[in-house]
Amino acid sequence: MRLHAVVIAGGGPTGLMLAGELALAGIDVVIVERRADQAVDASRAGGLHSRTIEVLDQRGIAEQFLSAGQAMQVQGFAQEIRLDISDFPTRHNYGLALWQSEFEPILARWVDELGVPTLRSCEVLGFAQDDDGVDVDVSDGEPLRAEYLVGCDGGRSVVRKSAGIDFVGWDPSTSWLIAEAEMDDEPEIGFRRDSIGTHAIGRAAGEGLVRVVLTEREVEHTGDPSIDELREALVAVYGTDHGLRHANWISRFTDMTRQAVSYRRGRVLLAGDAAHVHPPQGGQGLNVGVQDAVNLGWKLAQVVNQTSPESLLDTYHAERHPVGARVLHNTMAQVALGRSDDRHQALRDLMTELLGMDEPRRRIAGMMSGLDVHYDLGEGHPLRGRRMPDLDVLTADGPTRVFALLHDARPLLLDLGEPGGFDLSPWADRVRLVEAKHEGGWELPVLGEVDAPSAVLIRPDGHVAWAGDLTDPELPRALATWFGPAASP
Ligand SMILES: Cc1cc2nc3c(=O)[nH]c(=O)nc-3n(C[C@H](O)[C@H](O)[C@H](O)COP(=O)(O)OP(=O)(O)OC[C@H]3O[C@@H](n4cnc5c(N)ncnc54)[C@H](O)[C@@H]3O)c2cc1C
Repeated sequence: MRLHAVVIAGGGPTGLMLAGELALAGIDVVIVERRADQAVDASRAGGLHSRTIEVLDQRGIAEQFLSAGQAMQVQGFAQEIRLDISDFPTRHNYGLALWQSEFEPILARWVDELGVPTLRSCEVLGFAQDDDGVDVDVSDGEPLRAEYLVGCDGGRSVVRKSAGIDFVGWDPSTSWLIAEAEMDDEPEIGFRRDSIGTHAIGRAAGEGLVRVVLTEREVEHTGDPSIDELREALVAVYGTDHGLRHANWISRFTDMTRQAVSYRRGRVLLAGDAAHVHPPQGGQGLNVGVQDAVNLGWKLAQVVNQTSPESLLDTYHAERHPVGARVLHNTMAQVALGRSDDRHQALRDLMTELLGMDEPRRRIAGMMSGLDVHYDLGEGHPLRGRRMPDLDVLTADGPTRVFALLHDARPLLLDLGEPGGFDLSPWADRVRLVEAKHEGGWELPVLGEVDAPSAVLIRPDGHVAWAGDLTDPELPRALATWFGPAASP
């Protein structure tokens, strides 16, 4: 039996991010990954939203991604309604065009550097859990034994199915073919709508290459899509296959929309596509998975380290399930808005007009970018439960910014008032105290200006656990809730 504290099934974006977070906390974690290497089907995610760039920045690795992609206003609603976020109060007031096939190797390199082992060409087949741990059956022989198993194994998650966690939602109503192809004729570039649905052809990187997305007549299909099906779908929409010569790859996706009813069953947790699937409209799946991982990582580490009771893990479901549900909801709205008849065109026209106005644009763009996420951590300062802004601060070691203080993924009490106002020693082994000064205002995306607190307790995921004055009796309560009971003197 091979022993580890945590086994992660699946080394896609979610599993990799979680592995990195656990490794930073010193947890013995292993990834079990079916693929032989990090190569990924080129049909998947096309970029990162602002909050994902921020969480990578919180770990000091954003630059590696930014230099590989192209920072731009990527956000759209129902494909065509553009949402500009350049006026948002964040250093990353843009998205990043970067294919998943480029994103994964960069993240995998970071995880490797942190020393996380990956069992490649190896599948999780099932598991059995007891009071003390989980036995994980894997395809390469001897089982693994862990304290916790996390299913980051995608939409068809074996972990979710073996745990008997229901995946509830909506069957697909539409199916799309997506391909990268070479054509002898010059195709019509741009969107086209007809009685079948919305279709698009755009240029791809590479001489004469195009990327095609076609709505299919039928929803149900068996087997992988073929070049003949691509040809037929092109003819059905454009009346010609544009001299289709070759396809580098062809894939298919639908608008199936489902969410796990629970993100935890005992010692087994779910994150990313294993916990929620939805159509790619708005480009949110990878982003939400990475952010699930950042929410779960430090909590699981503290439970494994016995800093916090197991009940801390329930806050993962409580905080992330509503975020996932909101993504499912907005993708359903986007699919509906994409329908091709005149009545839906009228609805699109109205939505385009509405989202051209400042307040609605900010609301919806805040949601799509992930910048408006607000965990319900109780009453108090408006920052509580929201993401900590990346303020410029002056510390005894010189000028820095808040995200730089989060690189090691440790909890942080940032004292921006008079130094020495609080005795942190009962938590000093877990929570870092930084005394600093900040000149200037505090502005949050969507919400706007908020009062400057004199101190902020920041969780490793960058969300504010408490904000206020150091004399507030809520502060020791928040410390104990999030980072374990006070150590005796
Ligand atoms: C056409 C399309 C376009 C998309 N565009 C975007 C976009 O623009 N933006 C965005 O954010 N998202 C987008 N997505 C969604 C995004 O690709 C997924 O949400 C993302 O890959 C989820 O990451 P994950 O790690 O949770 O799951 P996955 O990427 O599915 O990774 C799961 C991993 O687990 C492995 N695995 C599976 N089963 C087992 C097993 N039993 N044992 C061991 N390993 C296993 C797999 O090999 C894989 O590596 C798009 C998806 C599609 C289909």
